[in-house]
Amino acid sequence: MPELPVFPPTVSPEAKPFWDATAEGKILLPKCNDCGTVIWYPRTTCPECMSSDVSWFEASGRGTIYSFAVVRRNGGPWRDALPYVLAYVELEEGPRILTNIVDTIDLECGQSVEAVFADTGEGNALVRFKTV
Ligand SMILES: [Zn+2]
Repeated sequence: MPELPVFPPTVSPEAKPFWDATAEGKILLPKCNDCGTVIWYPRTTCPECMSSDVSWFEASGRGTIYSFAVVRRNGGPWRDALPYVLAYVELEEGPRILTNIVDTIDLECGQSVEAVFADTGEGNALVRFKTV
């Protein structure tokens, strides 16, 4: 598989703990201390109960493919990475995140994956996944 381009993210203050953790190869997720909702994307208020009592915990880095598409045509910096996979991975903790699968295009929904981290060179990393 060709290497995927790595673009540094725009880091909002609300998501800074998430991005800082990626530099250490960890996924931190926010969780509501009032209703237990695991929150994605990172924000300071629970979208379920509007509580602002939110704290961070370390996720396992494991999940399953919820949905995916194999991209076979694209321009710009992605051209050299074709074909590549754009996927929604459902983390063990619940949230579904938009990401890439880096090791194969031969995939099925429900397949197990684990996180890998693509260093951006700017103090954080993009969270992508590989099959297990
Ligand atoms: Zn809540």
